[in-house]
Order: sequence, then structure tokens, then C-alpha cells
Amino acid sequence: MDTFSLSEDQVLIRETARDVAKEKIAPLASGFDAREEFPWESVKQLQELGFMAMMVSPEYGGSGLDTLSYSIAMEEISAACASTGVTMSVNNSLAAYPLEAFGTHEQKDVFLRSIADGGGLGAFGLSEPDAGSDAAGMKTTAILEGDNWKLNGSKMWITNGGVADVYIIFAKTDVNAGHRGISAFILKKGDIGFEIGAPEKKLGIRASTTTPLQFDECIIPHDRLLGNEGDGFKIAMKTLDGGRIGIASQALGIGQAAIDAAIEYAKVRNAFGGPIARFQGLQWKIADAAMEIEAARMITWKAARMKDAGQNYTLQAAMAKLYSSEASVRAADMSLQIHGGAGYSRDFPVERYYRDSKITAIYEGTSEILRLVIARELLGKY
Ligand SMILES: Cc1cc2nc3c(=O)[nH]c(=O)nc-3n(C[C@H](O)[C@H](O)[C@H](O)COP(=O)(O)OP(=O)(O)OC[C@H]3O[C@@H](n4cnc5c(N)ncnc54)[C@H](O)[C@@H]3O)c2cc1C
Repeated sequence: MDTFSLSEDQVLIRETARDVAKEKIAPLASGFDAREEFPWESVKQLQELGFMAMMVSPEYGGSGLDTLSYSIAMEEISAACASTGVTMSVNNSLAAYPLEAFGTHEQKDVFLRSIADGGGLGAFGLSEPDAGSDAAGMKTTAILEGDNWKLNGSKMWITNGGVADVYIIFAKTDVNAGHRGISAFILKKGDIGFEIGAPEKKLGIRASTTTPLQFDECIIPHDRLLGNEGDGFKIAMKTLDGGRIGIASQALGIGQAAIDAAIEYAKVRNAFGGPIARFQGLQWKIADAAMEIEAARMITWKAARMKDAGQNYTLQAAMAKLYSSEASVRAADMSLQIHGGAGYSRDFPVERYYRDSKITAIYEGTSEILRLVIARELLGKY
């Protein structure tokens, strides 16, 4: 297979994802967004297709597919509904991945299976009110007392908060050891002392739920430690490498949807005696956006292929997420501009693309942090 072509299976995944996105998910997207309602109906469609645990091994209820298939499916679903897209991304990349990569057989059998084919959802809790980009500055602690861990602290901005059953939570088990003092834990909705706060009111991805989490003398059994004590930061960073391929793909979907909408509108909107598509000034905007999204897609696919080949893909995943998100924001802005006043109205989906695209440049590493990651990978130690 060459670098750019897809296998027959990957083409089939794209067609399946495109069909469900178009027929079932897109018609519901603006309603869920307007009501700020979690898109359960859309998520259930994806659970039935096995899209919520695409890369999980069949042994634990997953679809056993590669990362490129996941990227292709994420793009199609996000083009229809970016809120459904992020729900899918978090379940696959941020919850299922660390459970499969770092969990014991028993942990996978219970927790991974429950979010793979058990109908449940997962969440990932790293960010805190006073520690986002600087994740190692977290204040949440976990202390081993007898056979149990006791967690105290809080998390902020947690996607799938409240709708998820399984939470990967990072806390300091040694407050004097910097990032080496962080460990990862598996929490369940309903654990004693674990409270989920009210959903945030957001600019975009309004159907996705984002909540704070609170741990107040939260008691969990000792065997809910994920990986080794002190490995939490490493687990979080490895998880985010893969997550960035998911968010890059979400950005591609939103950007492509915006370009498609601009093309469609430019052909039917008339001004000065004919369709606005004949103005070269608009044609060039569409051409530039399409070129950027195609370039972003190629970087993203390369990162996915490198992950599938077992190579170090930190650099490519950071480049993919940074370039795709910024290209997506530009594409959505271009499309809204081509729609004129109609673009500013809620009667057209382009205002949703415009609002939804922005988050892709913030979560799972802001654009600024990704430039630091890329520079660190390129410069190494000096
Ligand atoms: C809708 C939504 C969903 C989210 N979902 C999750 C989730 O599921 N799980 C989770 O753990 N988190 C989640 N987050 C949190 C998200 O990852 C953080 O918001 C993000 O990492 C930025 O952290 P912050 O908001 O604290 O910004 P800050 O870290 O305070 O950054 C503020 C600004 O300073 C810049 N900055 C910071 N440090 C540097 C530096 N060294 N050099 C240059 N610039 C810098 C940033 O780029 C940014 O522009 C979510 C956020 C949102 C909004």
C-alpha cells in the first residue's frame, strides 16, 4: 500500500461512516446543539456500529481496527456533528486506549469491556481549575490508606462528565516528585465521595457535555490504580498523542463540512446577475481552504499510519492536531464569509461549524503548547 491510498476495508469504513453520518446523525445535530442536549441517539448508532471502541481488541469487545480507519470515521462523524465526534474521540482515544495499553486483564475485562460493547462511556480527567496546559501542576492527591486510595481535589472541563460511567483520573501520589509523582486511577460514577458538577455553558460543541468533577475523601479500592504508581504523567502524555489524531480528524470533518457548504451556497446564491461562485475572489478562498484541509488530512493520516506501525508519532500527532485545527478554524471563517448574512443566521449549519471549529485548537494541547511539543521533538536536548 502506498502512503496515500486506502485499503478496501478503510474505504468501506469511510462509506459506512459517511452513510450513518448523513442519514442518521446530521439531521439531529442542530437540534441537539440548540437544546444543549447530549446526543444519545447519535452515540447509540455509533455504539451499534462498533465505532465507540474502534481500536480496542475484539477480546475486550472492540472492533480491532487500525488508527487510520478511526481517523477516517472520526472525520465523517464530526462533519455531521462535532459534539458526537468528540464523544467518540474521548471514548476511543482517552478512555479505551489507556485502559487497554496500561490496564491489567481484570481491569480490561470489567472497565474496558463496559465502554467497548457494554453500552457505557468513558472520560479522561487531567485538567484542573488551576492546571490546564501545566498539567503537572495539578493539586488533586491520592493517598493509599490500607487497601484503599483516598482522593481529594477537583477536575475541570471533563468531556463526557456525568454521561460517562468510567473515568481515568490523574492525581498526585507524591507531591514532592513533580510529574513523576502523578499516578492514574480508574473511577466509576457513584464511587463514594465522587461528585459530578453542572455542565459548562459553551461557545461550541454544545451537545457534548463538559463538567467539573469533585473528589471529597473519595475512596476507591487499591486495584483501581492504572499502570504503576508514578507513571500517571507518562500515561497521560502517551494517551494525548493518540488523542491528538482523533481531534485532528474532528477538525478535518468540521473544516470539510464548512468547505462543502461554501461550495453549495456559492452556486445557488446570485449577485450582480449570476451565481457568486463566478467571482474569482471567492473561488480563491475556497481553493485555499480545500488545499489546507487536504494537507492537514495527509499529516493526520501519516501520524495514524506511524502509530499503527509502532513508530514514535509524538511529532506527527502534534503537527496533525495543530495544523488541522487551525486550518479548520480558517475554513469555517471562510465559509461563513461566503454565506454573507445567511452565514450569521442559525438557519444554516455554518455558524455551528464556526463555533465548533475553535475548540479543536484548545483541547488536548492548545496551539501554543503543540508548538512547544513540536519544537522540543525537533530540537531535542541542547
Ligand atoms: C470543551 C472542553 C472540553 C475539554 N475536555 C477535557 C477533558 O475531557 N479532559 C481534560 O482533562 N481536559 C479537558 N479540557 C481542558 C483543556 O485540555 C484545557 O482547557 C487546555 O489544555 C488548556 O488549559 P487551560 O484552559 O487551563 O488554559 P491555560 O493553560 O491557562 O492557558 C491559557 C493560555 O496560555 C497559553 N499558554 C499556557 N502555557 C503556555 C506556554 N508555556 N507557552 C505559551 N503559551 C502558553 C495557552 O496556550 C492558552 O492560550 C477541555 C476543555 C474544553 C474547553
